[in-house]
Amino acid sequence: MNQQARKVVLLAHPAGHSLSPDMQNAAFRAAGLAGRYEALDVPPEALEGAVNDLRGEGYLGANVTVPHKEAVKGLVDALTEAAVAIGAVNTIYKEDGRLIGHNTDGAGFLMGLRELFEADATRAVAGALEGQTALILGAGGAARAVIYALAGAGARVLVANRDAQRAARLAAELSSHGLPVAAAQVPEALSGGVELLVNCTSVGMRGGPAEGELPLLGAAELGKLREGAAVVDIVYRPAVTPLLAAAAALGFLTQNGLPMLVMQGALAFEAWTGVDAPVRVMREALASRIAGGGTS
Ligand code: NDP
Repeated sequence: MNQQARKVVLLAHPAGHSLSPDMQNAAFRAAGLAGRYEALDVPPEALEGAVNDLRGEGYLGANVTVPHKEAVKGLVDALTEAAVAIGAVNTIYKEDGRLIGHNTDGAGFLMGLRELFEADATRAVAGALEGQTALILGAGGAARAVIYALAGAGARVLVANRDAQRAARLAAELSSHGLPVAAAQVPEALSGGVELLVNCTSVGMRGGPAEGELPLLGAAELGKLREGAAVVDIVYRPAVTPLLAAAAALGFLTQNGLPMLVMQGALAFEAWTGVDAPVRVMREALASRIAGGGTS
């Protein structure tokens, strides 16, 4: 890594409670790099200037979060295939002096999921997504990334959302990229057989709109997942959401949103630095910060 170019910024508004500086600064230290990561509060009118600043020698790149993930697409020099399909940029890195807009959320989710499958190879899901049916709850930004990743890995993806029209629009758009995605209602999806359920709504999140609730289905419907199915909740606080508690009680394999959060950060770190991310250190930094307070 060029020791002159060593700063990464998070473009956010507001930026106060981000967990990423803890995770990424721990990664720079552990990798022995002179990098520094800091969160910048960038109001929308200052976004173009902040992106142009990244062209300077002092910057390795950036992370991008709410509310800039879509607006930034028009300010970089090129977009990766993932950023185009997901429709949002969460990472900017440099290639031959050009700013590349990328998205690591989907691939980060998939890497977290593979960890889960590897930890329990006896389950019916057994790690292979090819030919499996995944039911995604939610049709917001995170759902887009998760659906893109799962469909790209060979799963057949069904998407259900409180606002069913939003799910239909999302499915139509991702299908137009050649991905096997369809909108569905939860009961019909379950009757067809589902091996993987992923909550991508903010239901169950501490301090969120429906803390303490299950997203779009009840415990009885959860019991209709295929035997050996996996249930992932991308919400990471609380560590055990109501959905994960209900799924574990029924004997399903479960995972919260922490692995996705760590792995999207690890992939961004590697894009900026070209160095393998110290994943264990990043996970520990994040876990201790979550135990103490903060948001994504
Ligand atoms: P969005 O605002 O884009 O989407 C929110 C989604 O939640 C929509 O599908 C919305 O449905 C649904 N929703 C909200 N309230 C309710 C409710 N009361 N009942 C049913 N559905 C509801 O948010 P994101 O997609 O960016 O994030 C979703 C969640 O994922 C958040 O909790 C976030 O923290 C988490 N996340 C985790 C990541 C990780 O790395 N682990 C990464 C990114 C996000 P509708 O369309 O009907 O309004």
